[in-house]
Amino acid sequence: MGKIIIQKQDSVKLYKIRKTLEELTQKSGRGTELVSLYIPRGKQLHEVINNLREEQGTADNIKSDLTRTHVVDSLSRVIQRLKLYKDTPERGLVIFCGALPPEGGGPIGSEIIKLYEIDPPKELTTFLYRCDDHFHVDILKDMLKDDNLIGFLAIDTKDTGWGLLHGDKIEVLGETGSGVAGKHRQGGQSAKRFQKLREMELTYYFNRVAATTKEYFIDIYPVKGLIISGPGPTKEDFINNNYLDYRLQDMVIATIDSSYSGSEGIREAFAKAGEILSDFRMVEEKKLVDDLFRHINSRIGLGTYGLKEVTKLLKNNVVQTLIITDDTNLYRLEIKCKRCQNIQEIIIERPQLISKKSELLNSPCPNCKSMDSESTEQDIVDYLELIAAKTGAKIEVISGKAEHGAMVSSLGKVAAILRYNPNQ
Ligand SMILES: [Zn+2]
Repeated sequence: MGKIIIQKQDSVKLYKIRKTLEELTQKSGRGTELVSLYIPRGKQLHEVINNLREEQGTADNIKSDLTRTHVVDSLSRVIQRLKLYKDTPERGLVIFCGALPPEGGGPIGSEIIKLYEIDPPKELTTFLYRCDDHFHVDILKDMLKDDNLIGFLAIDTKDTGWGLLHGDKIEVLGETGSGVAGKHRQGGQSAKRFQKLREMELTYYFNRVAATTKEYFIDIYPVKGLIISGPGPTKEDFINNNYLDYRLQDMVIATIDSSYSGSEGIREAFAKAGEILSDFRMVEEKKLVDDLFRHINSRIGLGTYGLKEVTKLLKNNVVQTLIITDDTNLYRLEIKCKRCQNIQEIIIERPQLISKKSELLNSPCPNCKSMDSESTEQDIVDYLELIAAKTGAKIEVISGKAEHGAMVSSLGKVAAILRYNPNQ
């Protein structure tokens, strides 16, 4: 009991999808011209391409010349992109494409077709094609929600209820009566015989509950954890006598003493489970941060922090795990002189990015005084990930809002656990 199993998602991947969706949410089209395309696993790409060609055909009806051109061009870009795939990817594929104003804005007609391609975090089951004045990002946003299903079981000798927690919502799945006689026998029955009968009934009831629990929480809604509640010691009897499927037995996160069983008991247990659940979700991140602080406070010197220091060590292949919060809002801006190839690198927050970029592009190269330079910018996590990929370091993006995330924020939002102490 008390064992916690969480399916861990790739935190860098989720971070990037979140960032892209944030960006896409802010975009709007001049007309009804932004394409959103969700292709579920198993859907034939040539079918999708045919659909898109038909859509291109109907675009002739669009009155505005500019909108029509944008739609036709966007669809061509998507079709080109799909042709690069031999098969639909394992989890499906999401593409957003549309004519967007250049960064910093621009006059009508200055839009450029941009395409965003997203490998969904889990298997996509719906097909969706939309051409609208905004991108349809809700399906992906829903996928990013915490999808650790948690099962609830509220049991006593009278009845049992089952509930399912999905995201923040609890749903009562079902309820059953026990059929077990009350504790007090009727007149005329021998105490011994009554007791024996009652135990048989209870065993039968517990087995029945266990079978339904397995059906719900293994077969239909595979849960990551189970919370068992109820008044009195019945829940402990049920757990300790191993009625549950062994897999569920290992998933019991907690037992909660409550006043009710059945469906009322589910709602009560959910109301009482807040702390347990938030611990459950945060436990992986917390482990990581605890580990980091243990290293920072140890004399062996395997814990370090600060973006500059960590980046340097990452490049030198000393970093084992890099930890960064999801709220740094930092970008790496690179200005490269086209004549002498001199590179200026600046780490800067998003709000200052555009003005700094134009300032540097309009300044002479510090090396050769040429005015001809080009710029690239990257989210800091993308940049760190590129370096990490070369060295085999692991990157973990953690929530900056949570308590342990705040501890990392206090260290400058970036920290690392090292392979060895570079100063020894
Ligand atoms: Zn130069």
